[in-house]
Amino acid sequence: MDYGSASPVDARVLEAMMPYFDKEVGNPSSLHSPGRKAKRELEAARSKVANLVAAPNPKSIIFTSCATESNNLALRGAALRYKDKGNHIITTSVEHMSVMNTLKDLQKSGFEVTYIPVDKDGLVDAEKIKNAITEKTILISVQYANGEVGTVQPVREIGEIASDKKILFHVDGTAACGKVPVDVEKEHIDLLSISSNDMYGPKGAGALYIKQGVRILPFMLGGGQEYGMRSGSENIPGIVGMGKAAELALAEMVDNGARFIKMRDRLMDNILKMEYTYLTGHRTKRLPNNASFRFSFIEGESIILQLNDLGINASTGSACSTKTLEPSHVLIAMGLRHEEAHGSLLLTLGRTNTEEDVDYVIESVPKIVAKLRALSPLYPKKR
Ligand code: PMP
Repeated sequence: MDYGSASPVDARVLEAMMPYFDKEVGNPSSLHSPGRKAKRELEAARSKVANLVAAPNPKSIIFTSCATESNNLALRGAALRYKDKGNHIITTSVEHMSVMNTLKDLQKSGFEVTYIPVDKDGLVDAEKIKNAITEKTILISVQYANGEVGTVQPVREIGEIASDKKILFHVDGTAACGKVPVDVEKEHIDLLSISSNDMYGPKGAGALYIKQGVRILPFMLGGGQEYGMRSGSENIPGIVGMGKAAELALAEMVDNGARFIKMRDRLMDNILKMEYTYLTGHRTKRLPNNASFRFSFIEGESIILQLNDLGINASTGSACSTKTLEPSHVLIAMGLRHEEAHGSLLLTLGRTNTEEDVDYVIESVPKIVAKLRALSPLYPKKR
């Protein structure tokens, strides 16, 4: 129930990767046969990732080491490239820390960042983004979907605004790519961050889509690999794995999505039967595999530890940030008070989950919540 934190590598992906660790070890820059073979595999993977997001030209995919790197490259690369045109960047208050902290860092060197608030469901209003645009705006960065509360943003609407105003549009697609259809052309996306592990590919691989004709500055300089955008010998096993993962995610998206939605809705319908229990994130505009809640009067950490004792791995707050006692900035941005945000539970479904797993969670969560509330001095005990 914690696939948002880490997913296993799909067995078919692992099989595709294996030869590239010890048998097919060419470097794509080499002229000999193993080198050329590696180059062909690199380009085949590029095409597969391009297909996943409907990118017309595979050359627009740059492989990186993770989505965090892709976000850093997109934001820094665009900001520094266009700094003479303007210094204003627009984003939302619910972005992943790899976006938040990169933008904070850019603020230190003179960029101005407007953080657009979200509503109680975590949705950003495209009109608010439009109204925040100034003469100096060079970049808009909005996540496709939130990994923590699952809300899917109106990306196409924002893309149309950005394109009308000729402002670069970066989308952090980490939580969404491979789970919901993404179309960089139709959605007017200039830069899109993609993660490998979030779609059952290996960790240590990621990608950035850079629309043909868009120029950003690289920060990894060296031998000029990846069209000069990300130097360093390519991680061929990881890239082959990411390509295979993208191919499978696209082929199986409709079937997997339908299965997840059924399980997700069953989790939501049943867990929400409990008193003082609320859904976090939008009810329908949400990722198929995300069910997130908050429970009054108890702490998320206690729920996680109790669930762990029952063999259920779940998460509270962000699935992938470092250990911190601060409540999630996403839940706070959605208007929750600190004590409300502390009682959150995030369940992220994955390919190996079954309906029986869902039954077990539906049975276990109420027991744990009742037990913790019985111990909570805040809980209004019935006489
Ligand atoms: N963006 C979003 C929306 C995420 O959910 C995550 C975490 N999976 C990241 C970026 C960062 O991904 P990674 O830790 O793999 O670099």
